[in-house]
Amino acid sequence: MNASIDVAIVGGGVIGCACAHAATQAGLRVAVYDAGRIGAGATAAGMGHLVTIDDDPAEFALARLSMTLWRAWSGWAGIERRTTGTLWLAETGKQRDAAHAKLARLRAAGLSAEWLEPSVLASAEPRLARDLAGALRVAGDEVAYGPELAARLAADVRAAGSTVEETCPVAALRDDGLQLANGGRVSAGHVLLAAGCDSVHLWPGDAALPLRPRKGQLAITDRYPGYVRHALVELGYIDAAHGDADESVAFNVQPRASGQVLLGSSRSYRDTSPDVDAALLARMVRRAQRFLPDIGALQMLRCWAGFRPAIADGRPAIGRIPGARRGNLWVATGHEGLGLTTATGTASVWLDLLLGRAPAIDPAPYAPDRFMAVPA
Ligand SMILES: Cc1cc2nc3c(=O)[nH]c(=O)nc-3n(C[C@H](O)[C@H](O)[C@H](O)COP(=O)(O)OP(=O)(O)OC[C@H]3O[C@@H](n4cnc5c(N)ncnc54)[C@H](O)[C@@H]3O)c2cc1C
Repeated sequence: MNASIDVAIVGGGVIGCACAHAATQAGLRVAVYDAGRIGAGATAAGMGHLVTIDDDPAEFALARLSMTLWRAWSGWAGIERRTTGTLWLAETGKQRDAAHAKLARLRAAGLSAEWLEPSVLASAEPRLARDLAGALRVAGDEVAYGPELAARLAADVRAAGSTVEETCPVAALRDDGLQLANGGRVSAGHVLLAAGCDSVHLWPGDAALPLRPRKGQLAITDRYPGYVRHALVELGYIDAAHGDADESVAFNVQPRASGQVLLGSSRSYRDTSPDVDAALLARMVRRAQRFLPDIGALQMLRCWAGFRPAIADGRPAIGRIPGARRGNLWVATGHEGLGLTTATGTASVWLDLLLGRAPAIDPAPYAPDRFMAVPA
């Protein structure tokens, strides 16, 4: 690494910022370039649920590593963060059985989780519908504000003497650094592509990065402190997240530190407009009323939409870009609806690979060459 910059990073979302932060902590000199503002892409649109998703073993490993690293992070002061835990809500006996299997997996991994029978659930969350089959409570999950995470990580990167440039789009990756859209060139030993949904436009070589933007909508209410206490998610959410339906809605509600209630969420591949789809929003509210019958009475203040960077097999791409001549081009993207949670683990795995160390978890499930033929 004899160039003046060790790593040039494209994208200042939570993934690029977490990677930059990890690299500077390891003593590397980093430069981050974002086309817009730090954390203003998918990172700003997200719900901020830091959640230990466990249905895919690889995703579970990455989420657990990430949660451990988030808890150990020293930058939390002043950031909106609540350890609400998650209640995974079962509507049917079949979902209750699935929740018990999930409970066994979580406990086997040492996580604190318990099953709540309907009567216990009613006292834990009095506003929930009374005909639910129960809920799985996962104690350690959190809610945090995504843009603040990215901003704080970026501030730490700057404080460590590295560079973070905003409104500075990158035009192309080069073997020796970056070509900026303003005509400038950046010389760097390594390059990391972390441009979220836009990573497809900068992906080098002939093979395409199989990443699609997956639109999601959220809405936030006025302040109703104590309206709910946990992050509430229907168990069917996992099917919606992992399924390939063109459009889906799954109930997901969070209590924010402000007392506001954040309502999600939808998934759509077919809608590429950044605008809120009012009919889909109405569907989200109707779905929420199934679980929180009086939620329609809350005053909605704002709705927005964003795009999750989604790869077909549901896992991010973390590692060396296949086929790059010098082997110094890297990618970290495709985190879909879990990138705020898994940013720290992603950074850890990527940095270990770059430094030739053994990552804390098996990186193979995330290898970018898993879905593309490497050019000869
Ligand atoms: C509705 C919704 C709800 C979500 N809820 C959650 C949740 O509860 N929990 C969770 O863990 N995750 C959640 N997510 C997912 C999470 O927000 C994303 O996975 C994560 O933010 C992706 O981060 P990123 O850095 O890869 O992408 P982004 O945040 O999009 O950052 C990419 C950056 O690259 C920059 N860029 C693009 N092109 C260029 C270029 N040519 N040159 C320079 N810079 C460029 C962009 O300006 C952008 O800032 C949600 C997402 C959405 C949309």
